[in-house]
Order: sequence, then C-alpha cells, then structure tokens
Amino acid sequence: MTATATLAKPEPATTGFDPEALRADFPALHQEIHGHPLTFLDNAASSQRPNAVIDEIARFDRNDYANIHRGVHELSQRATKAYEGARDKIRQYINARDRKEIIFVRGTTEAINLVASSFVRPSLNLGDEIALTTMEHHSNIVPWQMACRERGAVVRVAPINDRGELELEELEKLLTPRTKLLTLVHVSNALGTINPVKEIVAMAHERGIPVLLDGAQAIPHMRVDMQDLDCDFYAFSSHKMFGPTGVGVLYGKKELLEAMAPYQGGGDMISVVTFEKTFYAGLPAKFEAGTPNITGGVGLGAAIDYLEQLDWDGAVAHENELLRYGTERLSEIPEVRLIGTANRKASVLSFVVDGVHPHDIGTILDREGVAVRAGHHCAQPVMQRFSVPATTRASLAFYNTKEDVDALIRALRKTIEVFK
Ligand code: PLP
Repeated sequence: MTATATLAKPEPATTGFDPEALRADFPALHQEIHGHPLTFLDNAASSQRPNAVIDEIARFDRNDYANIHRGVHELSQRATKAYEGARDKIRQYINARDRKEIIFVRGTTEAINLVASSFVRPSLNLGDEIALTTMEHHSNIVPWQMACRERGAVVRVAPINDRGELELEELEKLLTPRTKLLTLVHVSNALGTINPVKEIVAMAHERGIPVLLDGAQAIPHMRVDMQDLDCDFYAFSSHKMFGPTGVGVLYGKKELLEAMAPYQGGGDMISVVTFEKTFYAGLPAKFEAGTPNITGGVGLGAAIDYLEQLDWDGAVAHENELLRYGTERLSEIPEVRLIGTANRKASVLSFVVDGVHPHDIGTILDREGVAVRAGHHCAQPVMQRFSVPATTRASLAFYNTKEDVDALIRALRKTIEVFK
C-alpha cells in the first residue's frame, strides 16, 4: 500500500541553513551504534542536547551550585540569579507578558496535572464536561479522567479524520455551556498533525471556555507566542527542546494563576506559616513547593539561549523538506502505510509495515544504527482510531539530514526482506 501526505505551505530550501554545521554542536550524534554511524530519529521522545547546554550544566554545577532563594551567601545568590534568569529567558522566548506566568514544573505531565488539580477540579461539578481530542497523549487524557471520575463530570472527545486531522465542526459541537475546559495537543506526537490552535482558542473563547494547549511537540519545531495564541495555559518539557530532563514549564495567564489555589504545599510557596493559618507566596513561587530542579532550570535556560540564535525560518524550511522527502521515500515502499498524513504536519513519520510488528522493525533498525521508537507512543486512542496496535515512528529535528532519511529507508528495506 502506498500513502502520500501533502505538506502545508511547502517552503523552498533556504541557502543559509546548514544542518551539518549544527550537528557539530550535538556530540551524541557523532558515534557508532552496532558498527554503523548513529542515525538518531527518536527526537519526539527526547531530543539530544548541544554542547552549549551540556557545558553550561557542568559549569554551573562546578562553580555556582547551591540551593536557591533563601541563601544570603554568594553561591546561593549566584544560583538564584541563574535559575530566575532562566525564567526570564523562557518568558521572552514564548512572549509571555509577565515572568510570573512561567511556572517551573517537572514537565508537560506535571503541568497538565497542575491545571487539573488547581484550576479545574475545585469548580468541576456533576455533569460538567472537559473537551479534548482523539489525538491526545495519555498525559492529556488520564488527569482529566481522574478529575471527572471524582467529580461526576465527563470527558468529551473530538474525532479526527483518516489523515489524522481534527474534525473542527465536531469539536465545535462539543463546546457547550457545560464545558469547563478545552484541552488539546498543539502538535500530535503520534501523527505529527499541527492543529490550528489559534483559531481553536478563539472558537473556545467566543463561548467563554478556557483552553490548555499541550505544546510538548510543538516547541521543538516552531516558535510559539503566548500573546498571539492567546491560550490560557501552555505546557511543555525541556527534554524535547534540546534541554535536560526533569524540568518543564506551565505557562498560565496571570489572572488565572493568581485565582488558583496552590498545587502542592511545602517550602518556598509560603509567605507566613503558623499553626493557625498559612499565607501563600505570590506567583510564581505559589506553585513551586520544595527545592526545584535547579540545575535543570539553568540547563533549560541554556537551551533557550541556543534556540534564540537558531535560524528558525531556515530550520522550519529544512524540516519541511525532510518531511516531504521522508514521506516520498517511505511511500515508494509498497509494504509501508503512513499513519498521519495531515495537511499541516511537523516532521514526524509514523508508519506500519504489512506483516512486520513495529517492535521487530525498531529492533532491527537499531542493529543498523537507526534509532526510532516503536509502540503506541502513549497515545493508545490514536492507535485504536487507525486500528493498529502500534506504529514505528521516525521523528526528526533540525539537525537531521536527508542522509538520515536514506539510512532509515535502507535499513527498513533490509528489515522487510528479512520478513519476506
Ligand atoms: N504530550 C505530548 C504530546 C508528548 O509527546 C509527551 C511526551 O512524549 C507528553 C505530553 C509528556 O511529556 P513528559 O513526559 O515530558 O511529561
């Protein structure tokens, strides 16, 4: 079977963008795996980190590391400056209005759970609804099921079509006076679909419904602008955007965050504690109980510095071209069926091969030095929608090249031969 995907706004290759030069910044890319040069196509799970991030983490840990905020000594002040400096960089990078709108969390999962616990749960009543879509990651499904089960509310799901695009008219029908929140993925990790989130946010706001966007897979592929999107919350993880693991961000509009009760209690999120009464700290500390991932925050700041100097127009054009090329090459293999052929897609190639289980494909590709992911990608409802148990997913970043796609195709053809 063959499949084709037409790309949104195919952009001409730019002359200035040089992925080969960028690859030099990423030391992990330059190694052999099982006797083959590494072809790293598992960026949607976690992307690699540039030297700038690795070195800044080492420099910080060697010289400036101490606990933050309460220390009067020099090291604590340096660490606080670096950590809070990272918050400022993030604010600027995503064009939030105020640094108080940037809450450090463990990652996208914790950000969504924070909104579920502190924003939605307290006012969720019997018969209320949370609207989401078929293409959500489990981390944007399960917290809502938990909240709804507890409060007698209902999760409503907008369908997707055979290309993996959201059915907007159906989504619109879900938005009723009972809808407490619309929450959806900006870019699907399993399909690559880029949702028209700005329009969707406007559609929900017309009905007075707040919107949470799961930006985990959008932020590595494009610039996002909170004021332009006008979403109420936006969640993302550092480890998918060339930064360290264990840290991420919840962006929330200040007036909403201010009205919300804290997510967890503990140190750093208070102003005064007595046994009779505790007064909470202001934003953002109110949502950051306990010692945070200090080095992680600083590392994320270094990743932002790196991304700030990236030629984003060039990177987007390059990734679009890789997606076009990869789609074309995969479509030449009769046994391959692409899952996710949306008109607007990020550089994610999810596919199944007639007669071969994705886990076997992943294992054999690894022997050829090609790192992909095989499984349900924490999006089992997507697998159910396409009636497949799992897919093989090659997910690309700006540092991938056509040679990487060629290596994938070579190894895949070899794999198919083994199973013939
Ligand atoms: N949402 C999407 C779309 C994802 O792809 C992922 C991770 O794969 C997550 C949420 C969860 O991110 P994390 O595990 O960093 O919390």
